[in-house]
Amino acid sequence: MDNRRTFLKHTTLGSLALATGSIPHAIGYAQAPAGAHTLPALPYATDALQPHIDAQTMALHHGKHHLAYVNGLNKAEQELEKARQTGDYALIQHWSKQAAFHGGGHWLHSMFWKIMAAPGAGGGGNPTGNLEAAIKESFGSVDAFRKQFAAAANAVEGSGWALVHYRPDDQRLMILQAENQHKLSPWGATPIMGVDVWEHAYYLTYQNRRADYVSAWWNVVNWSAVEANLQALRSR
Ligand code: MN
Repeated sequence: MDNRRTFLKHTTLGSLALATGSIPHAIGYAQAPAGAHTLPALPYATDALQPHIDAQTMALHHGKHHLAYVNGLNKAEQELEKARQTGDYALIQHWSKQAAFHGGGHWLHSMFWKIMAAPGAGGGGNPTGNLEAAIKESFGSVDAFRKQFAAAANAVEGSGWALVHYRPDDQRLMILQAENQHKLSPWGATPIMGVDVWEHAYYLTYQNRRADYVSAWWNVVNWSAVEANLQALRSR
């Protein structure tokens, strides 16, 4: 994805380059050379989403878990760079898998922080505007969307995510699960929102009660940020 952005930036007219250049701020992470990804700052204090997400969970999740994905992605990219220089591809399968796993983790967590906000500071409520219209078109109603999303999140086997993807081919939204950070993902579609249901995302407060966490999570969804993600993809 980063390579595609670089290609577009360097080969298209100014207006398109400007449009694509704005996407990393709305979705995912900023363009960086191989092995130079950095942990983005949280857009709020670690205690901002309490009581729905406790401060210790937020601090560990962002400062330890997300950081590990950033470091893992950098390591994988550096090892692949080394392999290109030496011609030694004995560990190509390992580092390719590591790049997908950690790259998925970095991308999804970067999105996750941005699509949450404290209740009263943009979190909670209901989707409006273009996002509400898109949800109704793809799922029939906001209520049906909420029920399917929560069911998908609650039923993820082991560690993973429930994700809402936007597919430009037919302009539809899809609710899917992801195992780990990257498995069960379709091609050509990009997540605009998602909930992390790895145990590290909720265990300190909710223990084994994932459904309670998913239910509480609606109180911190920043719908305007989700809508911005949708609009950024539509304007590509
Ligand atoms: Mn996580």
